[in-house]
Amino acid sequence: MTPPVVPIHAEPMSLPGPAGLRGDGCALPPVIRERGQREVFCGLTGIVWLHRKIQDAFFLVVGSRTCAHLLQSAAGVMIFAEPRFATAIIDERDLAGLADANAELDRVVTRLLERRPDIKLLFLVGSCPSEVIKLDLSRAAARLSQRFNPGVRILNYSGSGIETTFTQGEDACLASLVPQMPATDERRLLVVGALADVVEDQFRRLFDELGIGPVDFLPPRRAHLMPPVGPNTRMLVAQPFLADTVRALEERGATRLPAPFPLGAEGTTEWLRAAWQAWSHDGSDATRFANVVGPRRERAARALARHRLALQGKRVFFFPDSQLEVPLARFLSRELHMQLAEVGTPYLHRTLLDQELALLPEGTQLAEGQDVERQLDRCRAAQPDLVVCGLGLANPLEAEGYTTKWAIELVFTPVQGFEQATDLAGLFTRPLERRTRLVA
Ligand code: SF4
Repeated sequence: MTPPVVPIHAEPMSLPGPAGLRGDGCALPPVIRERGQREVFCGLTGIVWLHRKIQDAFFLVVGSRTCAHLLQSAAGVMIFAEPRFATAIIDERDLAGLADANAELDRVVTRLLERRPDIKLLFLVGSCPSEVIKLDLSRAAARLSQRFNPGVRILNYSGSGIETTFTQGEDACLASLVPQMPATDERRLLVVGALADVVEDQFRRLFDELGIGPVDFLPPRRAHLMPPVGPNTRMLVAQPFLADTVRALEERGATRLPAPFPLGAEGTTEWLRAAWQAWSHDGSDATRFANVVGPRRERAARALARHRLALQGKRVFFFPDSQLEVPLARFLSRELHMQLAEVGTPYLHRTLLDQELALLPEGTQLAEGQDVERQLDRCRAAQPDLVVCGLGLANPLEAEGYTTKWAIELVFTPVQGFEQATDLAGLFTRPLERRTRLVA
């Protein structure tokens, strides 16, 4: 196993099972369910934003040169800094079973931690190759934790493309943090999901003004600031792809506050309202919410008007990618008056998305999973004005004359909250404006 190297690798994957259409049998519109070839990034991609968020953590991918290339090109800006991620490369000797992969891993970790005393939390991140050789990273993490305790916590999760889409990397990472959270009986609000620091600061100020708190954020900015959790924890989920993390927190006693996600003026208002309602049972000071949130919502809604002029009536088609598709479709249809040709998502987490699904226009065509060729056929038949898809599909679709938006940008860009609502809308207007300029 050789230590670090470290671009974009979208791994097409085939999953077994038939493709086809079927109704879901509940109040939702029929959902197209597909289990065919997918075109998505793997869960390693989450490291690109998570390493910026937890500032004293290090992500050691136990993987191949391909994994290293994915990370290096996706987060290539680290060239001038001490990087906080790397790849321990599983080479031919490891794959052939000639080397003791555990001993090699221990050696790489020891060397890394000796050289980098600033690391307080180390994630061993599994990949397709580590799964193929059945390297047990949970045992490795336990073994190495004992050795480096108490200075460094060592955890593990899988970012393997065999079973994860790219945002599931964050879910797996945060779920691995839950057992590390101290217990509390105090009534606290926990915001779950990585948000850009600027967005987190804005929300913290809003919660302060609303008298909601104490407020904690998961993930924390530093390893020693792990938020507490217990039976009186109320959680506001900031990202729709955190099903495993939410389940783990519920097992620790936390209760989820059902809400849409904080995208756009409406989504942000309703997300904050869920916390407000949980904190003001007696109905006193009823005007406080309107006074704090109202002006911000109105300002955001006014700022969206320019984008609405550009987008209203345009048809958008979502390929399944980031798992943000349903909240984005709600924002685009309700606040920018776009029409939804198809809303594809890798997984339809009914419970987390219940409030969002209720806000979609009647008859919205949802699709869960992917069979890329079939979906391309439906996309061409729909002739949308804008296609939201992964990098692997964007270029061929652009070559066919479609206007595309890279889904991954929606995850890398701070888009949550009132002050980011126009930035979010801008991500959809820009490709259309660019196309207009090219054609003119
Ligand atoms: Fe490719 Fe798998 Fe490595 Fe992801 S984890 S870069 S899909 S080999």
